Amino acid sequence: MIRVGLVSMLFAYAGVFLATILGLWLFYGWRRARRRHRERIGLFQCRLCAGWIRRGGPDGLVRCPSCGAINEQTITGNDI
Ligand SMILES: [Zn+2]
Repeated sequence: MIRVGLVSMLFAYAGVFLATILGLWLFYGWRRARRRHRERIGLFQCRLCAGWIRRGGPDGLVRCPSCGAINEQTITGNDI
């Protein structure tokens, strides 16, 4: 049987917890940067299916090629 002290267990617990928080922070930062890059090159997400759509003309409405929903071009992302 492996003997582990209370202090070692607390350090291991804190290490796993902090590594999880760091991993989530990096993942969401990467995802946010990817979304900003896509918005910068002229894409936005469909409100219904979250597919990426290229901005169209000056009329303000674009039909999603995936689901057929009509989206406003001013929408800059899906907050779901
Ligand atoms: Zn769609």
